[in-house]
Amino acid sequence: MTRRYLLRTFGCQMNEHDSERIAGMLETDGFLPAEAAEEAEVVVLNTCAVRENADNRLYGALGHLKPLKETRPRMRIVVAGCLAQKDRGLIQRRAPWVDVVVGTHALPGLLELLHAAERDGPQMDVREYTEVFPSALPARRAADWHAWVSVSVGCDNRCTFCIVPLVRGPQLSRPMADIVAEVEALARRDVVEVTLLGQNVNTYGRDLTVPGSSPRPLFAQLLRAVDRVDGIRRIRFTSPHPHDFTDDVIDAMAEAEAVCEHIHFPLQSGSDRVLRAMRRSYRSGRYLEWLERIRTAIPGMAVTTDIIVGFPGETENDFADTLRVVEAAAFDAAFTFQYSPRPGTAAATLPNQVPKEIVQDRFERTRSWSGGPRRCWWRAREGSETWPRAPGPTSSCTCRAISLRGRSPTSACRPRIPITSRQRSLRSRGP
Ligand code: SF4
Repeated sequence: MTRRYLLRTFGCQMNEHDSERIAGMLETDGFLPAEAAEEAEVVVLNTCAVRENADNRLYGALGHLKPLKETRPRMRIVVAGCLAQKDRGLIQRRAPWVDVVVGTHALPGLLELLHAAERDGPQMDVREYTEVFPSALPARRAADWHAWVSVSVGCDNRCTFCIVPLVRGPQLSRPMADIVAEVEALARRDVVEVTLLGQNVNTYGRDLTVPGSSPRPLFAQLLRAVDRVDGIRRIRFTSPHPHDFTDDVIDAMAEAEAVCEHIHFPLQSGSDRVLRAMRRSYRSGRYLEWLERIRTAIPGMAVTTDIIVGFPGETENDFADTLRVVEAAAFDAAFTFQYSPRPGTAAATLPNQVPKEIVQDRFERTRSWSGGPRRCWWRAREGSETWPRAPGPTSSCTCRAISLRGRSPTSACRPRIPITSRQRSLRSRGP
């Protein structure tokens, strides 16, 4: 009889990457995907602790699964991801029908945990240290032309609003040779685009520095090494920290053909006072200087950002500073988030939490604000020979055609580019 699994993913690209590995491991064990929990023998909830109300969403989903589990006792329920790492034993205390809790570092042991749960009852592994990078596990990728490639896990920063260091631990970089070998293997399987993943991706390698020498990131070298892999046409990366776009990284981005002309440059706030309280290492002036330097080195670079409104103690003046920096930076796109306290973070205990209605009001004003001269990456390049307009999605292509996203993510003007993986000819570099 066919055994099936259902996998639900919450959260960021790191979780999407881990979910590809969860699916890969289950399929290696003979499982096939299910459409609904009713037909699944294994249900996995890959959770996120960053988003608001993450725990309510998890326990809501577990509540829905409870009656199903009562009628189908052989069904196994797995909670994975950041919330599993953070809440640990609490999950099985609140929802004793959960069979397996598997933390962010313990993913490679998922099948063993499932088999042990079948034999011996509920299992939990929330170890503190990554021994095997999830990238080394079998994967069931969502697209055959694109792959997530994990280059590091964890983060050494301590931004006061962020739960990541708590649930993913300090930064641990993967050896460069392993990463390049994985990308080479992907290219041999017709993958043409990779996204390098790390919580603070551009400090990659700082923990690999030879003992005795000063710690130094190796991200620029990594970009160049991946760029040399034959067949890889597009390299993206996420999530970076503005502070770590050092000159060598900018030079590598400018010179490496396959690196897309897009950076995500998280501002978070335009108020220096708030940036200090967030424990971000830059101030608004430095931020704008860095941005200028990058745009000078790489003309046409698309820039996106993250903004948090309503951080504890944020005043109307602080908020106005954010709008001023947004205007000066002329982002291509901004992802705005309403601050809400995450238990376990330093900011959750700060005084002067901003009332919900004020946070909501600033959020709406940021989103509807039209004072910023938003750049349109594609339109700015219309008519340029270097960036020819690509035809729209193709339905007429009879070869094994795939559609690539543009090289920058400006959604309002993003054509999809037909490309044949066999020919490997990139017809356009536009967004
Ligand atoms: S750098 Fe990013 S991942 Fe690290 S603590 Fe700050 S926000 Fe979190």
